[in-house]
Amino acid sequence: MVDINTKIQESQRATATSASVTATAAQPGAPMSAGLKAIDRDFIEEATLNKARKLGVSYINVSKTPINPDLLKLLKPETAQKGMIMPFFSVGKRLRVAVADPANPETKKIIANLKADKYLINVNLASTEGLTDAFKLYKTDQYKLKREVETKYAEKEVKEYEQELANLAALGKKLDDVTAQDGVQMINLGALKTGASDIHYEPEEQAVRVRFRIDGVLHKVFEISHGAYKNLVNQIKYLSKMKLNINNVAQDGRYSFVANERKIDVRVSDIPTHFGESFVMRLLDSEKSLLQYEDMGFSGSYLQKMKDIETLSHGMVLCTGPTGSGKTTTLYSILGNLNNEETKIITLEDPVEYNLAGVAQSQINEKRGYGFADGLRAVLRQDPDVVMIGEIRDLDTAQTASQASLTGHVVLSTLHTNSAVETIPRLINMGLPPFMVAPSLHTIIAQRLVRRICDNCKKMSPIPESKMKELTEALERINRVRPNLKLVLPKELPETVGCEKCSHTGYSGRISIAEILRMDFEIRDLILKEASSNDILLAIRKKGFLSLREDGMIKVVQGHTTLEEVYRVTNISI
Ligand SMILES: [Zn+2]
Repeated sequence: MVDINTKIQESQRATATSASVTATAAQPGAPMSAGLKAIDRDFIEEATLNKARKLGVSYINVSKTPINPDLLKLLKPETAQKGMIMPFFSVGKRLRVAVADPANPETKKIIANLKADKYLINVNLASTEGLTDAFKLYKTDQYKLKREVETKYAEKEVKEYEQELANLAALGKKLDDVTAQDGVQMINLGALKTGASDIHYEPEEQAVRVRFRIDGVLHKVFEISHGAYKNLVNQIKYLSKMKLNINNVAQDGRYSFVANERKIDVRVSDIPTHFGESFVMRLLDSEKSLLQYEDMGFSGSYLQKMKDIETLSHGMVLCTGPTGSGKTTTLYSILGNLNNEETKIITLEDPVEYNLAGVAQSQINEKRGYGFADGLRAVLRQDPDVVMIGEIRDLDTAQTASQASLTGHVVLSTLHTNSAVETIPRLINMGLPPFMVAPSLHTIIAQRLVRRICDNCKKMSPIPESKMKELTEALERINRVRPNLKLVLPKELPETVGCEKCSHTGYSGRISIAEILRMDFEIRDLILKEASSNDILLAIRKKGFLSLREDGMIKVVQGHTTLEEVYRVTNISI
């Protein structure tokens, strides 16, 4: 990886030199020395041109052709040199390559590999000398800058860092002595190691606080000096392609790195604060495998309701909850279960968080006028069976989604509401009339994530008096609504302790607690009659509907999580 701070210092020392390097980088062969050498080269190029005519292929003087650094990334330098081949021009998947000898078996092999990657190859003959000049491009800054934005950490490196990071708190002090490039690597890998989803850099008067969000909760991991932070800021902004010289307005960016063969996308947000620029970086594991409903914490009748979504021919399925409640993960799992050869699935996302094979995923760009509503209208013209819309934020999107679900499409989306029942008045308040809400809605899933007790260090202990009453009452209520569950309060429940494995939090991983509301004739009728949320709640209670908190209580009694966790996530109001 390039260390931007070294670069900045270099450029401050010699701006003129670095500018000339960039200018000549695209045309390595152009500044040939004069005299005999040049005459020789002209002769060689002419001979190559004649050879190309005989072979019936096009000729290219590759040393005089500017080559887009992105094309250099198609082949590793060693591969290109071994096969004497250089991609030099492309439009979409149409690719022109320069080769010294089309009959060379090594060259043929590389071309076959490119074809396997769906490239349409046009072969051009170039002189060996021209190619040799062109290969020098691999050594230029231009190539390195482009290429190394995606950094790969090998397993060995990850292990080494992990050992160094055994004590995360020590990382802050270490950052004073390493380059910013190493600093960013250490923090990236530290976050991965602890399973953090976000890294927060918060400048304060004396120092900069760094916190990781692990299983949904922020933990202070270390502090760094303002001096070390200044270099980190440059490195982060450089990686995320932000403007380095601007520090008084908010900026967004992203970069990615690869660790242990997993590609991690990092979404970076930068805002100016009183004591310096504050960054929040979200780590998106784009190749994370989809979770099964059971692993997410769905069980019993809720599990069945999730599975029933697979048999839907049309209708809207909405996941609701605040940011970080796991609704996107649930939607992706539903998509994963709907995904097969016979089904066409298109998504509209902001941003695309996971890559799903076999699904056409489309990125929303509000700034360029490609919002959810417009995107959805365009997507519907592509004849999909299933459409996933990242979020319903306005009436236009709600209306289009509702119409789509009434005309034979399965529509999946998310909405910011506190509970499943509240989703109905929310749609109506947006302006969607009850006569559209009632027939188009199919299932509403409201959910939260609670941290799972760490199995490695938990300690069984008798239920304290203070929690006894609350739990007994909750179980009575649950058993009344769902007599078949027959829940009994155990004598002991697990308590959190904390160990090396769970970064001393006492928790490891998360499970969802949920409410699932599925429409039926009676509920649709209530919506059409514009019944209050309370009336709807009374009606569904009779059918065994449990609230988020009650579902959480079941998970407490089953020993998966704690009462404190359930209270923490069910008290959030949006
Ligand atoms: Zn533990």
